[in-house]
Amino acid sequence: MLARTHDLAAITALALVAATQAVPQMTLSTLIAVLLANQIGGIAPDIDQPTAPFWRNLPVGHVLGRFAGKLLGGHRFLSHSLLGVALFAFLTKLFLEFFQPLFPHVDSQLVWYAFIIGILSHLVMDTITKEGVPWLLPIPIKFGVPPLRSLRITTGSWREVWLVLPLLLVIDLWLLNMHYTSILSYLHHLQR
Ligand SMILES: [Zn+2]
Repeated sequence: MLARTHDLAAITALALVAATQAVPQMTLSTLIAVLLANQIGGIAPDIDQPTAPFWRNLPVGHVLGRFAGKLLGGHRFLSHSLLGVALFAFLTKLFLEFFQPLFPHVDSQLVWYAFIIGILSHLVMDTITKEGVPWLLPIPIKFGVPPLRSLRITTGSWREVWLVLPLLLVIDLWLLNMHYTSILSYLHHLQR
């Protein structure tokens, strides 16, 4: 999947969770951190790919990317599995707990959830691509939906750009439309 599909999928997943759960009150700083963490989570599994946008934006990114790719076992391996999600979750938890004292107005627990939702959305989206996702590593089987590979999507193909992306956008607009007044009132009552 393209980075922009992952970006949109991450925010859609977050919106779906927010629409179906009681969203706790939070500060504006938490909301910003939540959105940022969700977007980072949405592309994080592709750190195993030297050409990923994640690395492209860094000066020596492609070198680091190649190193990360080797370390993670190549593209669509460890970082694209539940084991990888657990590893990401563990490391980000440590990271957030370490920096929490510097950001007392940020609820790091919510930031952490948003990051994990982003990662899971990435794996779900990659599951509908031809390559599939090795969800159950170390069992080395790549799963895909639909199971028939030829029905799945090729990254960057017209089906991704003209079907998947618009569909995600429609879901977001539909959610926005359904919850418009409660979103406004929620934003209005954000803690400072
Ligand atoms: Zn991926």
